Amino acid sequence: MKLSYLPYDLQFRHPFGVSSNIRTHTPVVYVSVCIDGIEGYGEASLPPYLGETRESTIQFMKRAEMVLGGYNGSFELNEVLFRIDRIDEGHNAAKAALDIAMHDLAGKLQEKPLYELLGLQLEQKHTSHTIGIGDEKLLAQKINEAHDFPVLKIKLGGGNDKLMIDEIRKHTDKPLYVDVNQGWTDEKFVLDMIGWLASRNVVLVEQPMPVNMIGAMIRIKSQSELPLIADESVKRLNDIEMISEGFHGVNIKLMKSTGVREAKLMAEKCKELGLKVYLGCMGESTCASAAMAHIMQYADYVDLDAPRLITNDMFCGLKYIDGKVILRNVPGTGANTAMNI
Ligand code: MG
Repeated sequence: MKLSYLPYDLQFRHPFGVSSNIRTHTPVVYVSVCIDGIEGYGEASLPPYLGETRESTIQFMKRAEMVLGGYNGSFELNEVLFRIDRIDEGHNAAKAALDIAMHDLAGKLQEKPLYELLGLQLEQKHTSHTIGIGDEKLLAQKINEAHDFPVLKIKLGGGNDKLMIDEIRKHTDKPLYVDVNQGWTDEKFVLDMIGWLASRNVVLVEQPMPVNMIGAMIRIKSQSELPLIADESVKRLNDIEMISEGFHGVNIKLMKSTGVREAKLMAEKCKELGLKVYLGCMGESTCASAAMAHIMQYADYVDLDAPRLITNDMFCGLKYIDGKVILRNVPGTGANTAMNI
């Protein structure tokens, strides 16, 4: 099996703000795994605050090359992915890129769409559309760009949260997902804000408090008027049980979970524990988001709008029709590119 990779920069349509920073682009590394001329594609998205870089990702690929080189067309997918995971701790996005590419390749070799390879049904679901914190003068334009989408996702935690919601409510009464990105630290303030948001057609709150405030989250959960979704508090499967008393659901992302294989296990674990499944994404292109869309069957909430927020997506294979995520029903993930990786 031949592995190749290509660094790339995804440019945001609008500078993208969360409670801790604003950025204009996201570095990614695309990978291709190839057997007998058939290529599987994957993507590592590397927002700087998560600590993985293009350099660390490329170093990881060089180590993965030694593992993959020994396999031919009859590889056993779980065995290869297990060995890749064992190369080193961390490197979740780099592992995700390889996992996505391997799933794409396996689907193509077996002539099955990824959902079928995973034993799942193809489902079309609505996704939310994210409006980042940034220039408030652009708010009306950003909301208009999302006119097809029935739910908007808003980033709060920037200090002027009520003002932000009031501004949005001048333009739309659509339901909102609110993501605080760990931006609130006072327990009483959090409960008051949840109540206030619930009265303004907000339907869930994501990661209101820092990861280390799980004790406060456990107290808040029992009184919360809205579902609380863990994002930064959960990366991989083993993190879910520890936070299940403090949240109602989990935002699962391929770049945290190390890819599709573990994302599916995480969704199943959530169902087992009675937690909601929220399928999310990083700043990423169609390459990664298409892979995630194959496990939409599990989703209570979908936030797979990343390809819509960038201007230079070199992959095709995912469509948004009336706010729904629509996959191509072809072997693999359905994400394709004319780019040479
Ligand atoms: Mg989040």
